[in-house]
Amino acid sequence: MTTDRPLMVSCPRCQTETLYHPDNRFRPFCSERCQLIDLGQWADESHRIPGDPVPPDFDEPDTH
Ligand SMILES: [Zn+2]
Repeated sequence: MTTDRPLMVSCPRCQTETLYHPDNRFRPFCSERCQLIDLGQWADESHRIPGDPVPPDFDEPDTH
């Protein structure tokens, strides 16, 4: 059984090809950032949460 071939996976967040390896402590994510986003610990950077759609009719009044 050969395990030398690097296993590449797509980051669940951004689909970037990343190495699935014990050295990659963020696996299967490409980076700590994507890992944190997936864990919901990065909410202060991105308020756009999939699954929380904004009804188009509920738009803000034209205040600008
Ligand atoms: Zn990523």
